[in-house]
Amino acid sequence: MFDCIVVGSGPAGATASYFLAKKGHSVLLLDKVSLPRYKPCGGGVSPVIAQWFDFDFTPVIETTVNRVEFTWKLGDPVQVSLKDIEPMWMVKRDKFDYLLVQEAQKAGAQLQDNTEVTAIAFKDNQWQVTTTNGTFNGTYLIAADGVKGKLAQWLGFKPREEFIGATLEVPCSVEKPHQAYFDFGSLKNGYIWNFPKSDGYTISGGCFKGKNQPQEIKQQLTNYAKELGLDLSQSQYSEYALSLWADHQPLHTNHALLAGESAGICDPLLGEGIRPSILTGLRAAEAIDQALGNDDQALANYSQIIQKEWGADMVLASRLAGIFYQFPKVVYKVGVKRPSAAQIMAKILCGELRYSDVTEKAMQRLKKRLIPGFGG
Ligand SMILES: Cc1cc2nc3c(=O)[nH]c(=O)nc-3n(C[C@H](O)[C@H](O)[C@H](O)COP(=O)(O)OP(=O)(O)OC[C@H]3O[C@@H](n4cnc5c(N)ncnc54)[C@H](O)[C@@H]3O)c2cc1C
Repeated sequence: MFDCIVVGSGPAGATASYFLAKKGHSVLLLDKVSLPRYKPCGGGVSPVIAQWFDFDFTPVIETTVNRVEFTWKLGDPVQVSLKDIEPMWMVKRDKFDYLLVQEAQKAGAQLQDNTEVTAIAFKDNQWQVTTTNGTFNGTYLIAADGVKGKLAQWLGFKPREEFIGATLEVPCSVEKPHQAYFDFGSLKNGYIWNFPKSDGYTISGGCFKGKNQPQEIKQQLTNYAKELGLDLSQSQYSEYALSLWADHQPLHTNHALLAGESAGICDPLLGEGIRPSILTGLRAAEAIDQALGNDDQALANYSQIIQKEWGADMVLASRLAGIFYQFPKVVYKVGVKRPSAAQIMAKILCGELRYSDVTEKAMQRLKKRLIPGFGG
């Protein structure tokens, strides 16, 4: 019998396991695949997460980014050096996620990979978790099984809308290892982000509105890479869904919490998901620690805390996304292309600014350009 069973060893589940184990609780961390595992992802991580942990991430940081280039359909470029901010980390998810898992193990969590959860049932005041490798019991359960996971549905939560994302991994020598690239306009209802690694580029695309076809995203990522003159003979293409923050929903139920993309935490404007997965994993661990200490309100408070610390900002990101993806060309000219706007976007991605700090001003500026006569 475990204090907590955590399903899914991505950033959300590994973080929750780490903090619960550090508090001295018995934790079982389950993943259906063998670790370390590949996850299609740009691998851009806000360095702000370092403040939450007491170990060093340096061994899994491939490079850091302090310069970005924005383009509109690969033309009309603007390059910006990021000032006064901690450079953004570029990671490979197999190594980054596995470091978190190994730290959780060192703290005392028990890992069982290659173990798929196939059913859950709440009996005699505990969770009975059926897997391909036996049945386990736990007082609490964290569903951190990602956007494609089934636990949220099994726990009775409303299904979340999924959006298309994809990555094209291109091994090559990287000319500017500290520069990231964002291209708008080529991919309808979304954008392309190209992040350097030590041995190549990860070119990602995400569609954050409407229904794009998978072949469209594949074609746009391939075109983009060809325009950059990259050799695609060794490249690897993968599609994966994204689950964007839609509205405030409870993330707790009887003795169970949702964390990470199972809770639909991705930023609806930019698609960032690693930092909020880690944040929800951390807060889920705190809530279950308090619940194990007989705090009856701890799980309900978790839903409130995530709404306050992440959801409120995501509502604003969603408002900006509504305008951005409807009038992308105008927004590129008025919003993205201004060097100060690029600094702001980078500061948001690095966790040094919140949408609440900038949305009102940005909306006023955009309305002035989009609605003739607005604002005089
Ligand atoms: C194309 C693309 C690019 C992206 N780029 C970025 C980026 O640059 N920066 C950023 O911040 N975010 C990015 N994201 C988002 C980010 O990848 C996700 O938000 C993040 O991985 C979510 O982490 P998680 O811990 O919730 O779930 P995941 O990382 O998806 O992990 C879930 C785990 O659960 C396991 N699992 C599932 N079902 C079961 C089961 N039944 N039993 C046992 N185990 C199970 C899976 O095997 C998996 O290991 C990107 C996403 C996409 C699709």
